[in-house]
Amino acid sequence: MDIYTSFAANLLFPLHEKLKKHSTTAVKLELERSQWLPAEQLRALQLARLREFLSDCAAHVPYYRDLFRALDFVPAEITAISDLARLPVLTKDVIRRDFDRLRSSAPEAVRLFSTTGSTGDPLRFNISKTRISRDVAAKWRATRWWDVDIGDREMVIWSSPIELTRQDRVKQVRDWLLRTRLLPSATMSPTDMDRFIAEICRFRPKMLFGYPSSMTLIAQRAEQQGVPLNQLGIKVAFCTAERLYPHQADVLQRVFGCPVANGYGGRDSGFIAHACPQGGMHITAEDIVVEIVDQQGRPVPAGVPGDVVVTHLYSSCFPFVRYRNGDVAVLDDGQCACGRGLPLLKEIHGRSNDVLLAEDGSVVLAIAFAIVLRDMPGVNGFKLIQETLSFCRLQLVTDASFRPSASEQELRSTFRTRLGAGVRLDIEYVETIEAEASGKYRYVESKVSQQQVAQAGGCTS
Ligand SMILES: [Zn+2]
Repeated sequence: MDIYTSFAANLLFPLHEKLKKHSTTAVKLELERSQWLPAEQLRALQLARLREFLSDCAAHVPYYRDLFRALDFVPAEITAISDLARLPVLTKDVIRRDFDRLRSSAPEAVRLFSTTGSTGDPLRFNISKTRISRDVAAKWRATRWWDVDIGDREMVIWSSPIELTRQDRVKQVRDWLLRTRLLPSATMSPTDMDRFIAEICRFRPKMLFGYPSSMTLIAQRAEQQGVPLNQLGIKVAFCTAERLYPHQADVLQRVFGCPVANGYGGRDSGFIAHACPQGGMHITAEDIVVEIVDQQGRPVPAGVPGDVVVTHLYSSCFPFVRYRNGDVAVLDDGQCACGRGLPLLKEIHGRSNDVLLAEDGSVVLAIAFAIVLRDMPGVNGFKLIQETLSFCRLQLVTDASFRPSASEQELRSTFRTRLGAGVRLDIEYVETIEAEASGKYRYVESKVSQQQVAQAGGCTS
């Protein structure tokens, strides 16, 4: 660690957090110790915290006070994490409908946070300094797993459109002090990408942080143009905000000459999990209980895909208890070679609300197709567009190892099985998949009305 990084990580950033009245530095120290606890001890710690958190909810949050009473649920008496399953799943609709009753009456400063709604599903909720401190500290801990720290030169490749406000200018000064540079990559023309590549070469970051799709596009452009980026001393590429596909990880690793680390979470769910160098996707178990559940909200065992449901143990000001965040994932009951006792996620699939409608009107999760495409040799990207009930277009980005005749046959047969024998599938070969206006990439788009989907009811996978 160089002197400036040490100055930033030990003095500058802690001071910044203190001025913001965040307890981040103390929490980070606590998390760095607890990550090495044996799994059983971590579970005991989690259970104790869960009891305390739910008791807070019962005392100060009208929605939970009434719910617990109706269910005869006494937080102080729970004896296992699995007791959580007695409570219903919290959906975005409930948060919108019962916003006022979900607010805690306890005296704590909160601010209203709104998710951007880039997926057409915006959400408003309150967030406290306690909760922010936990999430920032968890991210800081995971950063340090990769032999980098706050204050190391960091290039942030961010594809959301960014507007400069006064608040952002303050942030710019902070970023400059902490040696973070932003590449606003909302547009990705060849000229833009060449400029980004030149900036990366000039800045020589120790770490990259951003959307895997944008980073991959930049990496592919550099490779095409013959600009080497693997000797710049980049130690790690942190991916966030979108699903990371294996082919993207391969490209990033090859072009930047560094390992790729996936992070999973959001402002609504918190910092759920992060990859360690040994490959484990570690859950932030001190702060968040992750359950994987079926359509009825019942937990499914490790190894089985289901909906992600999170309980954020430091969200008392506006509790997230069994919050269904819209993703599908798989738990892993194994242990990581790194020795950390933190539990693991095995896989994180796309969003569970990415659905298609079959000819007979039943709902089909798009993940079924994503899994087939993911395992198909030579597929480097795809987008599935359902134009009508009987017509889908599949855009594919492929390389030389793609075998068109065998693969097309497999795809058509998968589509017919899932969507109906009469469904027409057009396969289009494209150079790149276009991003949405929000800068995010959407791999599934259904033009069949959402109302029809809602009327169809339950999902099958
Ligand atoms: Zn590990």
